[in-house]
Amino acid sequence: MQSVGIERIKCLIIGSGPAGYTAAIYTARANLKPVLYEGLQPGGQLITTTEIENYPGYYKGVTGPVMIDDFKKQAQRFGTDIRCGIVTEVNFSDKIHKVQIDNNKIIETETVIIATGATAKYLGLEDEKKYAGGGVSACATCDGFFFRGKDVAVVGGGDTAAEEATYLAGLCKKVYMIVRSDELRASKIMASKIIRTSNIEILWKHQVRGLFGDKGIVEGALLVKNKGEKDEEEIKIKIDGFFLAIGHKPNSDIFKKYIDTDEVGYIKTIPGTSKTKVPGVFACGDVKDPHYRQAVTAAGSGCMAAIDAERYLSDKN
Ligand code: NDP
Repeated sequence: MQSVGIERIKCLIIGSGPAGYTAAIYTARANLKPVLYEGLQPGGQLITTTEIENYPGYYKGVTGPVMIDDFKKQAQRFGTDIRCGIVTEVNFSDKIHKVQIDNNKIIETETVIIATGATAKYLGLEDEKKYAGGGVSACATCDGFFFRGKDVAVVGGGDTAAEEATYLAGLCKKVYMIVRSDELRASKIMASKIIRTSNIEILWKHQVRGLFGDKGIVEGALLVKNKGEKDEEEIKIKIDGFFLAIGHKPNSDIFKKYIDTDEVGYIKTIPGTSKTKVPGVFACGDVKDPHYRQAVTAAGSGCMAAIDAERYLSDKN
């Protein structure tokens, strides 16, 4: 690990979603003088979320960016040092953990709170790369604007897909929802919203085979209906935008040399705690949660990580 500068701190928080900011609020109030690095997408997944109606306290609903800004201000109010930058390497082999930022600066820290969240998954089709920047997106709130009055498709049948489709329906002429099974995994309230929206058409039991277009711009998708069944058929839909909403991958790769993850990549913690197998390293939020993945559960686990870090330091000292 090469460095241009070394800084020694008590508590480093990696990530700036609800888990990271809640850990920051608690550790700052406990006088651990936390430093928080925001990472590649400051604010995490919430920054691309439209309306959040289920976070207690925001009884009128709130947008993701506003909520993140509130978390950030609250963390700053107690003195959290919030910085831009990404973690490029870690070394958890000693009592003092070393974390490299942006390939140069080294932070030496007694505790690390990992709150790096998860990233949108793609289907793995060559065409997703071919048409990247030409109509393929994993974020309707970021890119939906470009498809006003046009026809688009959303792949997936969970809450993210339902949310993206509803958002796009407000902007686009028509939204196809491509669902590989014959049911939506989305919550009942989101699913009924979809069914009630007249310009959303659900394509049940359809899978994507590829995309087609011209000069790197999407013009349509090639789908297969009832794959593997007697009546399997191939169909084409004309679309300008193709949105992925098929789940997320935990951002844990950089830590895998030192801490355990499950087969998908979710960080394993000692049940009922945020402790990883490395003393002084804690994990919270979506990077360790394959089950709930809500802003409020992420915030709760950020609080757990902060309390675990504080107790670790007071036991140690
Ligand atoms: P989910 O894992 O819940 O759903 C993924 C969807 O994508 C499923 O319909 C799944 O199909 C489909 N899918 C997965 N892989 C493929 C593939 N290769 N090809 C085609 N379809 C595929 O992920 P979400 O991101 O929707 O939600 C994650 C969590 O976040 C959930 O707990 C959800 O409740 C929560 N959430 C809550 C929101 C809110 O409350 N406002 C908003 C967004 C998310 P299948 O069902 O067949 O497996």
